[in-house]
Amino acid sequence: MLEYAKPVARLINELNKLPGIGPKTAQRLAFHIINSDIKEAEALASAITESKKTVHFCPVCGNLTDLDPCYICRNPNRDTSIVCVVEHPRDLVALEKTREYKGLYHVLHGVISPMDNVGPEMLKIPQLLDRLKDSNVNEVVIATNPTVEGEATAMYLARLIKPLEVKVTRIAHGLPVGGDLEYADQDTLTRAFEGRREL
Ligand SMILES: [Zn+2]
Repeated sequence: MLEYAKPVARLINELNKLPGIGPKTAQRLAFHIINSDIKEAEALASAITESKKTVHFCPVCGNLTDLDPCYICRNPNRDTSIVCVVEHPRDLVALEKTREYKGLYHVLHGVISPMDNVGPEMLKIPQLLDRLKDSNVNEVVIATNPTVEGEATAMYLARLIKPLEVKVTRIAHGLPVGGDLEYADQDTLTRAFEGRREL
């Protein structure tokens, strides 16, 4: 990128590191930023640093939050007897958008995947088991994605959770196989939730 002034090349290079941003898009975004008002550029920069400084995983459920615990865990109107297990914070957001579910969540931050060297200990599974002990939780709904890894993780969790005398259910397959929770429409998600079956 010798044809660019150093700061421009640096900006393009940083943008290019973002997921889904190829060299051409990085270039276009960089020029957009350079041509924009300094105030807009500062707002973007501070939104990035501010979120990095204040946002962390909720110590209870693993959701992304700037509060301790997060707004869901601290909400007294949520049903604390049911916990829904999801892969990522974005899946939690998708389920929240349906406005049907009133229980709590647990975010695994991935799924068990031997191919990618992801073992159970690398996910928030020990935290989930700890959380269930000495709690009033009587149902865990597993809402991992309907992929091979998502199903395997659901089975693995069911085996660990059942001995704790907690009912384990799996959301129904109104969801497309191999699909992603976050891309499902709200009706499909609501139906998948209502049609959950015991594991
Ligand atoms: Zn939380």
